[in-house]
Amino acid sequence: MPPDGRRIDPYTVGVASLAWFELIGFLLGLLFGSFLNVCIVRVPQGESVVSPGSRCVGCGHAVRWFDNVPVVSWFILRGRCRDCGMGIPWRYPAVEAATGLWFAFAGWRMWEVWHPPAGVLHSFLPFWTLQTVGLAGLGFLLIGLLVIDWKTQRLPDALTLPGIAGGLFMVCLQAIFLDPGEDQITFVSKHLRLSSPGSFAARGNVFLTGPEALIFGRLAAVCGAALLLLLIRWGYKALRGRDGLGLGDVKMLAMVAAFLGFWPAMLTLFLGTMLASAYGVAEMVRGRAGALTRLPLGSFLGLGGLVTAVFGGGIIAWYRGLL
Ligand SMILES: [Zn+2]
Repeated sequence: MPPDGRRIDPYTVGVASLAWFELIGFLLGLLFGSFLNVCIVRVPQGESVVSPGSRCVGCGHAVRWFDNVPVVSWFILRGRCRDCGMGIPWRYPAVEAATGLWFAFAGWRMWEVWHPPAGVLHSFLPFWTLQTVGLAGLGFLLIGLLVIDWKTQRLPDALTLPGIAGGLFMVCLQAIFLDPGEDQITFVSKHLRLSSPGSFAARGNVFLTGPEALIFGRLAAVCGAALLLLLIRWGYKALRGRDGLGLGDVKMLAMVAAFLGFWPAMLTLFLGTMLASAYGVAEMVRGRAGALTRLPLGSFLGLGGLVTAVFGGGIIAWYRGLL
């Protein structure tokens, strides 16, 4: 409390700190984006992302530390290597800026978690903090995969499989912080009953504890999303006689399910196929694509996943309201 006895308005303090959360998120995102550029070039080739350090693809000169500042250096160098003058694609600053913005968004979410409206308990703080860290990680993976698929028409297992494992690991960590009785499933006189979040009263026989329900539920979401896509893949092949959906797409959607759950993964699939179709039609109209042109579906799933991570909760709630 300040010396003159006035109380600090928590809202004013919060808004001031919001800028800090976003700024720290943005700067962290620039660093991760810079690393993501290394992954985008090296992962599809099976090369180490750790060593050697960044080099020019043209002349092999090591990039000097002051030429390696995210976004800024590309503009100072006017998109050319300092040694050989070879063009550096605008993709580099774009990936850095996109990752920076994504992490700034995660910073904003983190601020919301740490500044709940008056009356809301802080008991979910570690749970939602971990959720937000996962959100940042998912964006990192999706931005990387969407650029790699666009460039190489491939979605490397080296990103999708650790992505699935990482998403499930975050859920296991989150499960530690569920309150006793929260999310547990009980049998009450032959009715299956889901206890609501924050409910501590367990009446009836506990069928699954909260952490079990959360972890098994997410595992089921991953398997369900993967199986559904395998079915679509099989059906498409049976009807059209060619692959329309790669196994990489299957693993990528399973990864989204690991981080966000089953319905957000379905929304990602819906948005991704809509965007891919719109792009395909536009390219056909312009005469640049035929019915057999392969579209990088993973790139559109990546966009769909990012949109779902931001707006998914609202869209799914709105859709449920319609039914
Ligand atoms: Zn060079």
